[in-house]
Amino acid sequence: MSNAHSSGSARNAAIAAVTNYSPSGPPMNFIDTPTQELFGSNIFGKAVLKARLPKAIYKLVLKTIETGEKLDPSVADVVAAAMKDWAIEKGATHYAHVFYPLTGSTAEKHDSFLSPDPDGGALAEFSGAQLIQGEPDGSSFPTGGIRATFEARGYTIWDVTSPAYILENPNGTTLCIPTAFVSWTGEALDKKTPVLRSMQALNTQAQRILKLFGHRDGALVSSTAGPEQEYFLIDRNFFFARPDLINAGRTLFGAPPPKGQEFDDHYFGAITARVLACMLETERELFKLGVPVKTRHNEVAPGQYEIAPVFESANVATDHQQMTMIALRRVAEKHGMVCLTHEKPFAGINGSGKHVNWSLGSASQGNLLDPGDTPHDNAQFLLFCGAVIRAVHKYQGLLRAVVASASNDHRLGANEAPPAIISIFLGDQLTDVFEQIKGGGAKSSLPKGTLTVGVGTLPPLPKDAGDRNRTSPFAFTGNRFEFRAVGSNQSIAGPLVAMNTIVAESLDYCATKIEEATGGKKSLLNEALQELLKEIISEHGSVVFNGDNYTEEWHTEAARRGLLNLKTSVDALPVLDESEVKALFEKYGVLSERELESRYEIYLEQYCLTVNVEANLMKEMAKTMIFPAAIRYQGELASTCADLKAIGAEFDTDTLDKVTALVKSLQDSIGGLEKAMDIPDHGGSLDHAKHYLNDVLPAMAEVRTHADELEGIVADDLWPLPTYQEMLFIK
Ligand code: ADP
Ligand code: MG
Repeated sequence: MSNAHSSGSARNAAIAAVTNYSPSGPPMNFIDTPTQELFGSNIFGKAVLKARLPKAIYKLVLKTIETGEKLDPSVADVVAAAMKDWAIEKGATHYAHVFYPLTGSTAEKHDSFLSPDPDGGALAEFSGAQLIQGEPDGSSFPTGGIRATFEARGYTIWDVTSPAYILENPNGTTLCIPTAFVSWTGEALDKKTPVLRSMQALNTQAQRILKLFGHRDGALVSSTAGPEQEYFLIDRNFFFARPDLINAGRTLFGAPPPKGQEFDDHYFGAITARVLACMLETERELFKLGVPVKTRHNEVAPGQYEIAPVFESANVATDHQQMTMIALRRVAEKHGMVCLTHEKPFAGINGSGKHVNWSLGSASQGNLLDPGDTPHDNAQFLLFCGAVIRAVHKYQGLLRAVVASASNDHRLGANEAPPAIISIFLGDQLTDVFEQIKGGGAKSSLPKGTLTVGVGTLPPLPKDAGDRNRTSPFAFTGNRFEFRAVGSNQSIAGPLVAMNTIVAESLDYCATKIEEATGGKKSLLNEALQELLKEIISEHGSVVFNGDNYTEEWHTEAARRGLLNLKTSVDALPVLDESEVKALFEKYGVLSERELESRYEIYLEQYCLTVNVEANLMKEMAKTMIFPAAIRYQGELASTCADLKAIGAEFDTDTLDKVTALVKSLQDSIGGLEKAMDIPDHGGSLDHAKHYLNDVLPAMAEVRTHADELEGIVADDLWPLPTYQEMLFIK
């Protein structure tokens, strides 16, 4: 019988609430409103633009969206008026410029449509100027020294290429306008601006390559992204009984459950009714916003799931990814759960990543990374693919740096996520083609073959040219590359900016080389290409690895090949400060030196802040929750011992001794953590980050060891925190 005054009461209340959970709200119904009707119903997309704008204006807006051409400001008033009418018909009272500060989150500033009129009434107004530009104060967003608070002006600027949308709330709706966020001096303070700039750079360089192959239509080459999001769902009651989940998004304590993921019975398992209801509602909300979510399934760890959309233009995909994370969190709440997007909410079971599928293509050329059935004679594909190989090898450190965060450090390098070593999985067929190129020229492609199952009623299937490799951080998956080291909680903007920019640089290099070698003569193209691809695969082929990236042998082999192994964020982030990387971003107009420096500074600061918050939390929880539970149990054991001895009975003090020893170790380790947290004032951000890495994190690990051991001994009804078993399995 649990004691109502015991420290375990919050935990017990949580369990009671979970077991008594029943869904609230009416069920959804896709018969009356089919998903086709819902899809895009809340976006100011092409269909609405077409229906509501004068034809000439519609054409101008469409041109900007489809070719990247500058929008004439004079059309803004007309678009704004149409947008306002549409939004008010949809119940909007306010409009908001939505932007993406460097914290990786989504920010919004709401303004009412109403302005007072001279007669004491009010008019609904929304001008072109208000659509195009906003001025949130925003002085509290991190700027890494770009903007002091006394010069706090920052502007949000309408991104025409990402559709405006209606955000619903039971008490009214808001017109949301995706924007870029820049300083008074025009420097990027956000995640969106460099995405747009890098897409422009990629287009410019890809056009040069396409011209070499005789494609001169100039159709915009756009990078595409399809981000797969992994996440956990747990009951809200457990969440609120765990200060670590509330404040850090991950558990700082918790002994491994008796049953973990060893049976692999959760992966693609049947989805429970409550979770499925939540997924259906999340998807419905996203459909309305025009987010093309497609796939859902259970992931490897208990309580872990995945949602994936159909790919879109990188910029729109980035905005939609942010909307997806928000929708997951909001809807989970309605279903009595919490969505955890942290990279490693629970130790000992799989963490969450965000696989970012990336490619590039245009309306006239289609996907430029599609090899076709015989890649060996698809010269254009081979060049684009070779450019990616060169880029990834040359800028492996940068790719590691753009996925660096205190939280992703818990995942990368563990035996479940790609290691911190960046390498490419190419698959058998392409590896063979590039080997042939190295040897003098590619003459054949390994056939795809068919797969027969040996059951008459099952048809033979065309077989993929290469198997999958789940362990590679950067894998070619048939017609795109999949960057798997990205963290589940991070914005995909940074990784996309890096990919677009390094590939732009590589395409620039290739175009220049070929232009020089051929002098514009088409007849010399093949020879020049063979030469260039041979050079690329000889110099950069060491980044290709098709084996198991989780093994010890790969770590040794990678070191032999001279590949970087930047184990932690503190090792990886300084890459952003290297002159080669600064020159890269500067050259392609993606980030100026100052903008990059500010980002470096901010990411280091975020690392320190994250570890600092966790360390403080840990100290507090250890002192006020775990220590008290331990000494209560110690007290019970001691008094039982005394009572038994008083009546002359025996008492085996093994457990008491063990608890006593652990309590002592716990106290000592808390002392150790406090000492480690005494960070010297001097030194820059990198010194501070190193201190957190080398002193604070190990001290935290020490506290956790003793606390987790106590969890396995202390009487269950005295333990204050919901256990892994409860959080992961009770739903
Ligand atoms: P898996 O889990 O097997 O990797 P998913 O279906 O979960 O596959 O996700 C694959 C993702 O790759 C989807 O978002 C899909 O739209 C995306 N994708 C497919 N083709 C491209 C492309 N050309 N560019 C970018 N992403 C793509
Ligand atoms: Mg997947």
